[in-house]
Amino acid sequence: MAETIFSKIAAGEVAADILYEDERAIAFRDVNPQAPVHLLVIPRKAIPTLNQVTPDDASLIGHLFLVAAKVAAQEGIAETGYRTVVNCNAGAGQTVYHLHLHVLGGRPMQWPPG
Ligand code: IMP
Repeated sequence: MAETIFSKIAAGEVAADILYEDERAIAFRDVNPQAPVHLLVIPRKAIPTLNQVTPDDASLIGHLFLVAAKVAAQEGIAETGYRTVVNCNAGAGQTVYHLHLHVLGGRPMQWPPG
């Protein structure tokens, strides 16, 4: 499995503004925020894209969403609203090939996304 900046953050080798972590997941601030609140939730397990998720990962994927909701509440955007996004592969804008959930909030969101 190729190392990525996110696997290095998960290993503690690269610094990040970490908001939450446990044995399976880490949430930290995006370095190039696209909204007043822009967080990333990643699994410690290195999964390149959503396409490599297997049924064995079902609980882990659910956990990522629970962490997203927890950090959204911590950041005060749970009630006003926020968006979760997973970009899968280059055509969707994925640039880091370690599965991650974007959590964006703090401003009105447009639909559909570009
Ligand atoms: P993607 O385009 O869906 O793959 O999202 C990757 C995200 O990771 C982008 O929003 C980047 O700004 C963010 N990012 C890249 N490197 C770092 C980092 O070292 N710390 C935090 N966020 C990062």
